[in-house]
Amino acid sequence: MTSLDQPVLRTAYQKSIADYWDKEKDPVNLRLGDVDGLYHHHYGLGAYDPAVLDGPDEGVIAEMHRLESAQAEVLLDHLGPIAPGDRLLDAGCGRGGSSIMANHRFGCQVDGVSISRQQVDFANGEAGKRGVDGQVKYHVRNMLDTGFETGAFAGIWNNESTMYVDLFELFAEHARQLRPGGRYVTITGCYNDVTGGRSRAVSQIDQHYICNIHARGEYFKALAANGFVPISVVDLTADTIPYWELRAQSSVATGIEDPFLTAYREGSFHYLLIAADRI
Ligand code: SAH
Repeated sequence: MTSLDQPVLRTAYQKSIADYWDKEKDPVNLRLGDVDGLYHHHYGLGAYDPAVLDGPDEGVIAEMHRLESAQAEVLLDHLGPIAPGDRLLDAGCGRGGSSIMANHRFGCQVDGVSISRQQVDFANGEAGKRGVDGQVKYHVRNMLDTGFETGAFAGIWNNESTMYVDLFELFAEHARQLRPGGRYVTITGCYNDVTGGRSRAVSQIDQHYICNIHARGEYFKALAANGFVPISVVDLTADTIPYWELRAQSSVATGIEDPFLTAYREGSFHYLLIAADRI
């Protein structure tokens, strides 16, 4: 059975996520994407230039966008050597910015999947505007069961989209779609097993995005159970805090900045990159 035989949305939960993203028109996403046409729904990495806070709003927006694109570059750095003839999968692709960047960097075919029709249509429109729609294609599909051919991909990533699904189901599907030796990369927020369950701040983030943040340990259990061997684990927490500090002072703050800053600073939450090979 594949998504081609079944509806893409299988559960009431998935319907609510699709509905959320179908309606989402948040300036923190759209105004940043308008800077250069790369639309992200993820957070930033690296230091910001404090001078932007003394200038016009546009400068702050552009600086936040620069940090979000830098985050995607870090993710792509961990895919390893990808040839133009290879194929990549952007699982939970949002409005598609990371896929466009991957195609630009590697010159290869990239498929993005999201359960939101609005996002997929928007992303295909952007790929068309750039003239890369022959190589970058977005699909309304469920990443737990995409219907793509077995072994089709040299690399797969989830950029801040694993908290919407069961990791064991997700990595089983990724293991099926990756060719042997293929690389998987995720950047995600996860809660700290060492300090216990979800802190109040982590629960507030879950509530805000209707997601289920997983424990750090859950990633490694689910990867190992599906034949993935980690090659890099990078704690990006310290590198993402400046982005949140800038965002908290920006005109596009959404109110979730304080829980993120609290969770990161108290150590109950990490911003983690994991790269793993499929054996
Ligand atoms: N990776 C993108 C978007 C992150 S937002 C970026 O970095 O900009 C989370 C995304 O996960 C949304 O696009 C949402 O539609 C998608 N998503 C959530 N559950 C999904 C599922 N079961 N299958 C496919 N996409 C899903």
